[in-house]
Amino acid sequence: MDTASPRRFVDLHAHSTASDGSDAPAELVRKADARGLAAVALTDHDTTAGLAEARAAAKSLPDLRFVAGVEVSAVYEPGTMHVLGLGIDESAGPLQRMTARFRAARRERNPRILARLRALGVPVSMEDVCRQAGRAAGEGGGIISRLHIAQAIVAAGRAADRKDAFARYVGAGAPAYVAKERLAAGEIIAAIHAASGAAVLAHPVQLQCPDLDAMDALVRRLMDAGLDGIEAYHSDHSDEQTRQYIELARRHGLLITGGSDYHGPGKPHVALGRPAVPAAILDEPWASRWLADERLS
Ligand code: AMP
Ligand code: MN
Ligand code: MN
Ligand code: MN
Repeated sequence: MDTASPRRFVDLHAHSTASDGSDAPAELVRKADARGLAAVALTDHDTTAGLAEARAAAKSLPDLRFVAGVEVSAVYEPGTMHVLGLGIDESAGPLQRMTARFRAARRERNPRILARLRALGVPVSMEDVCRQAGRAAGEGGGIISRLHIAQAIVAAGRAADRKDAFARYVGAGAPAYVAKERLAAGEIIAAIHAASGAAVLAHPVQLQCPDLDAMDALVRRLMDAGLDGIEAYHSDHSDEQTRQYIELARRHGLLITGGSDYHGPGKPHVALGRPAVPAAILDEPWASRWLADERLS
């Protein structure tokens, strides 16, 4: 990598083994540096357990900025609404309480999914599932997700691959599906703000809004609840959608962020650093709050 030329791209959405990613936090950070990214954010679902390791790894990489993040689920019908907290201070009490609540809900949900699987004649134990995650349930504050359950179903020879396991058993609408804990968007945004983070609407395409007017109305409601930004760049977005979300963010004076939603080699069609997100978004005035912070770099 030519470190003399300024790094041009960032990736502000990625997962590690603390949630459903397959790279350890330090490994993720090393890969981001090797890709020549200017910054990477670790945004695990419902946990900040990977942040200390990732931050420590980033300390020895002078050309890579590290952004501490988290991703959680908000109440929203009929689609999926995920909110990213970027530039968070994970020691903040309200944020810790919120992520602890999400993790507690998962500890209650996972056995219910396994009970449904048992009733369907698919005996997968919590030990089987934890083996897929590479750690005990709750160990080190990491989470066990449906992804690990799907992998255990495949390992037991009861589905051809992960996608098949979701379609037949644990995906939405399938017989072993149990809905995940979600919190009101306003509550999530408040907890992120209490941790000095920016609250960003993740992958807006997954909201499945019927049109841009509906999206605009939803964004206005979220802004009333304190929303700071929109993840305009994401691996699920077409170039056209990215343009539309950038325009939407500009119209409302919202921050524009972006990332791959990388989950490691276990999800090979999503590559770290893709799509290319211009590093210039970190030069915008709003980013100074994160960049001035000693938690970064
Ligand atoms: P959870 O947060 O426990 O509901 O698990 C959601 C995770 O499962 C997502 O982050 C994906 O990694 C994975 N996932 C969800 N739906 C599918 C699917 N249809 N095929 C493969 N993986 C999926
Ligand atoms: Mn995931
Ligand atoms: Mn998401
Ligand atoms: Mn994600």
